[in-house]
Amino acid sequence: MSVATLSAPTATPRTSRPQADPRLDAVREKVERGERLSLADGDLLFTTRDIWTVLELADMVRRRLHGNAAYYNINRHLNYSNVCALSCKFCDFYAKAGEEKAYTRDMEYVREQARRAVESGATEIHSVGGLHPTLPFSYYTDLIATIRDEAKRLGSDLHVKAFTAVEIVHLCKIAKVYKGASAPGEEGRKARREAIRFVLSALKDAGLGSLPGGGAEVFDDRVHDEAYKGKIRSDVWLDVHRVAHELGLNTNATLLYGHIEQRHDRLVHMDMLRRAQDEALARMGYRGIRHSGFGIREGEESGHLGYTGAEGGDAPEITLTKPGTPLPEHVAFNPNAESRIPNAGSAGYYQTIIPLPFFPDGCDLEHLPGPSGLENYRTLSIARLMLDNFPHVKAFWIMQTLPMAQVMLQSGADDIDGTVVWYDITKVNHGAGVGAGNAVTNQEVNVWTLQKAIREAGFEPIERDTLYRRVIRDGADGRIWRV
Ligand code: SF4
Repeated sequence: MSVATLSAPTATPRTSRPQADPRLDAVREKVERGERLSLADGDLLFTTRDIWTVLELADMVRRRLHGNAAYYNINRHLNYSNVCALSCKFCDFYAKAGEEKAYTRDMEYVREQARRAVESGATEIHSVGGLHPTLPFSYYTDLIATIRDEAKRLGSDLHVKAFTAVEIVHLCKIAKVYKGASAPGEEGRKARREAIRFVLSALKDAGLGSLPGGGAEVFDDRVHDEAYKGKIRSDVWLDVHRVAHELGLNTNATLLYGHIEQRHDRLVHMDMLRRAQDEALARMGYRGIRHSGFGIREGEESGHLGYTGAEGGDAPEITLTKPGTPLPEHVAFNPNAESRIPNAGSAGYYQTIIPLPFFPDGCDLEHLPGPSGLENYRTLSIARLMLDNFPHVKAFWIMQTLPMAQVMLQSGADDIDGTVVWYDITKVNHGAGVGAGNAVTNQEVNVWTLQKAIREAGFEPIERDTLYRRVIRDGADGRIWRV
């Protein structure tokens, strides 16, 4: 070998990568300017072979919003019952009353779980369950009040994040306030919202702090009818969250992907959530943007374009990913914290999108392969890019695995959820919860493991509470906390 061949290797320009896709240049320009991406942009991001650029663009947005911060929380899951009136195809969590694996927790059990949560330093209890056919409405208010009461008795506090939209509608029926909701048109819609308002107000009075994002699955009627018929449709799911926001409750949203849906269905799902969030942020005082050129379906005019929000002036734009736009939260790390939101705190909004991969094991759809690792990275990155008005994207490590979540922190995610204890609904998506569930899975890591995983990924771990406020711990054992 001649000396000449040993010259130092030169850096390979990004554009010369074999899979570099020049069609993504226009998307890059939009992302750099903080402009909203269209469904056609989303289709391109899903089909391009240039996966590196997709991940890189999502990372650009994630760092613009959150800098070097990566969030985790200390929480505990409490599945109050697995008895369910429905039998969704992708669910292996549910049981029918009388079956050996069926369980329903009493208040003694709930109190004990709250005590354990406080002792382990948790700031949150996340509680969901099946659609139990006979429990009275008072069970659910008691559940929340018991958790809050036990935490208070022990000199602490626990935020209760509980009940998916599917459960809330079930509670409307249990509380016997849902009768008029089946009327056609505006009359039925009005009755539905009133029923949801009644139930959410009662739960809030009992101490409910926020809603999780489960039960959304994929907002598509074909997929709905094939895989989870009997569950609420997208319009009802969105209504539950709309009313929650009106009552000042923050909520999350999920996307269960990789089963019988098409990739374009995921984009439509994201677009519908994006429009719902426009409405929520406009209520808080963000300046609206006028949607144009695309609707619920490609080329279709949307029925609810142009939320105006606050009129011009100093009001920040709804597109949170635009450089300089402040997030609704101002307590946790926030590079744009100097700018204030006019009505922050008076109304709720979607905090986090949580993409959840479908796990086929043990359910009626187990003949399907489920999504690959690369598909998981791509879907989460595209969620970050499309959902330009969602502050947070969560890599839910229980379903994505901790090693995958580490890479996701570098490609769109800013949150990896918490030190979860006793999480029953792990694989299957239960209406109440997420992803395909196998019977009982004990998923637990300690706080040091989560912090180490975040640092290894190159970020600063920040403990947050449910509302993304920075948690400060006092005392030798760190069990006492404040925000
Ligand atoms: S996904 Fe939820 S609603 Fe459907 S069967 Fe499972 S527990 Fe019941």
